[in-house]
Amino acid sequence: MNDIVFKGIDTPNLRQLAVYEANGGYAAVRKALKDIKPDELIEMVKQSGLRGRGGAGFPTGMKWSFVPKVSAEPKYVVVNADESEPGTFKDRELMEKNPHQLLEGIILAAWAIGSHKSFIYIRGEFAHIAKILEAAALEAEARGYLGKNIFGSGFDLDLVIHRGAGAYICGEETALLDSLEGFRGQPRLKPPFPAVKGLYGGPTIVNNVETLSFVPFIVNEGPAAFRKFGTEKSPGTKIFSVSGPVKKPGNYELPLGTPLRKLLEEICGGMLGGHELLAVIPGGSSVPVWNKDYLDVPLDFESVAAKGSLLGSGGVIVMSSKTSMVAATLNLTRFYRHESCGKCTPCREGTYWMEKVLGRIHRGLGMPGDLELLLDLCSTLEGRSFCALGDAAAMPVRSSILMFRDEYEARIREAAGGKTPETAGSR
Ligand code: SF4
Repeated sequence: MNDIVFKGIDTPNLRQLAVYEANGGYAAVRKALKDIKPDELIEMVKQSGLRGRGGAGFPTGMKWSFVPKVSAEPKYVVVNADESEPGTFKDRELMEKNPHQLLEGIILAAWAIGSHKSFIYIRGEFAHIAKILEAAALEAEARGYLGKNIFGSGFDLDLVIHRGAGAYICGEETALLDSLEGFRGQPRLKPPFPAVKGLYGGPTIVNNVETLSFVPFIVNEGPAAFRKFGTEKSPGTKIFSVSGPVKKPGNYELPLGTPLRKLLEEICGGMLGGHELLAVIPGGSSVPVWNKDYLDVPLDFESVAAKGSLLGSGGVIVMSSKTSMVAATLNLTRFYRHESCGKCTPCREGTYWMEKVLGRIHRGLGMPGDLELLLDLCSTLEGRSFCALGDAAAMPVRSSILMFRDEYEARIREAAGGKTPETAGSR
């Protein structure tokens, strides 16, 4: 991965504590516990303009400031490491290569809100990364960065690493908390928000891995150094995970506001031979798809939203002229139908029916009116589902019909002409 804020991420053996320390690791924790009061730390993070990198982009310092100063219940820091968004694989690399940076971010967040218990909720399939984190936490504890009376400051912090069981919905923060408590992972009604009443009823902040990994830099270098990158409203850098038929797919840390064209053509080296760009999903699978007319959009929260999509998790999924958009959309819809937790009717039933209708179009059995039916189903999910998964399932469907309607209509016409899927062909 290239690096800016996450400097030196490819340093050999960085996951070892001694190597991390030799590269300036834990300096931010030492500095904060000695010289920075919790309120000052929250203010620093606010001034940096850091926004959540998990998808929603909520200001991190503001989220921390919602936690009550005094609470009868224990306060918690929970790391959302349940990275399951299709096309997104940045937190995985951060944790694999630099687990102590995340631990440092957790300690700083805990210091800021006055928490003595923290959890990393890690995607179940990341078993090997859970082991890396456990080894790092043991090393950190042995060195005095975790546990009782950290550096004689009187501050205690325990860390629990908890593996999920493979449900995408547990990336939704309240479903994650239910799962952590041992219940079936389903979203909770909000309010109350977790900052007021979260894990075990205590005030809780839930932050993404990438978000917390930025905090040591902000403490070491100051909020202004972070704001040197990015735009006024979307400061800092972001890791973009690029997948699809480009010459150099992978994770790239770039200033927010970098144009999509620069990312794909310069940094990723353009399309692979024989492939022509057809479509891009700019923020993980849960956001509207673009056609190739959007290459000059700057990749920051505001610019992407102004052009009808969302920056989301920064998972940039590239599709080429060899991709069938009907097949790709069906594939995504199948995913959401499978991952729908079933709590609310619009999503539970809507994703099922969207998969059915898309499936028959794909198989060459589509009927006149199917596109209207699909758009109607999208309207049933959008804004009417209990959590964001309902919208996430509808957005790829609506946007792909909007952008690539010709392909859908051609497929339905072929069906009306009596062709079988085989004779109709598939791109
Ligand atoms: Fe569950 Fe889907 Fe409803 Fe969210 S929108 S609560 S995932 S059924």
